Amino acid sequence: AHIVPIPGNDGTGAGAGLLIVLHDITAIRKLEKMRSEFVANVSHELKTPLAAVKGFAETLLAGAMDDRETARSFLQIIYDESERLNRLIGDILDLSKIESKRVQMRFSPVHLDSFVEKMLDMMRSAAEEKKIALVSNTGHDLYVEADEDRLQQILLNLISNGINYTQEGGRVTVSVEPAGEAEADGEYERIRITVEDTGIGIPKKDLPRIFERFYRVDKARSRSSGGTGLGLSIVKHLVDLHHGTIRVESELGVGSKFIIELPVVHA
Ligand code: ADP
Repeated sequence: AHIVPIPGNDGTGAGAGLLIVLHDITAIRKLEKMRSEFVANVSHELKTPLAAVKGFAETLLAGAMDDRETARSFLQIIYDESERLNRLIGDILDLSKIESKRVQMRFSPVHLDSFVEKMLDMMRSAAEEKKIALVSNTGHDLYVEADEDRLQQILLNLISNGINYTQEGGRVTVSVEPAGEAEADGEYERIRITVEDTGIGIPKKDLPRIFERFYRVDKARSRSSGGTGLGLSIVKHLVDLHHGTIRVESELGVGSKFIIELPVVHA
């Protein structure tokens, strides 16, 4: 609360009363709470891989080094966990940059059909490893005003989730189409990009929380696939920076669908 003396009107400047302004501090409290929860989460997430690195290094030093096979497998774990740490730190820095609005967006028109093909090509080998088909469903010749690097980050995140959370033999489809009704001049105001998979799906109760930082439906599964739990919250922020929206539809055991809508650019 701010307490501001109100000058009296007797010309002396003496306080005639006190104006008490009660600020709504619940919003500030909430923000503080979120911040400290984030720090706690980050510390926990960083400690887990670090503990593995330390533990396996200790075991090696204590003698496991003498057996070549054991040594090799422990070193592999140390390497993988360092990689996870690396990804985590990268994602955390990225998220904090985005959240504090310290990202410089460089907008330019992006032709979505060719862009989607490029994204699928980048994910091709990861998909082949899991025998997952990558399919595009494009052809409307639409452009969006986007920051290409950031749009790439959005799509690669969603496609790699699609691959991660889909069983062997499944399919991930990326579609681009006009969204909603055409205007009087025949132009559309928004375009829709959909990343759909035939994977494990997301339980209904988890759907509203899926874009929260570090929220995972299945921690073990996310971990084993190398996930940081930050991908979707980064995606959500990046879509916001494009003045777009993102939502998810999913059915357990059937698949998930992430739907992005962005403002269209008229040529
Ligand atoms: P992660 O690094 O764990 O994949 P994300 O923020 O990308 O983190 O996703 C958060 C959680 O949402 C995941 O841990 C997973 O439980 C769920 N999820 C995300 N994408 C999918 C998907 N395509 N199918 C099923 N579950 C998904």
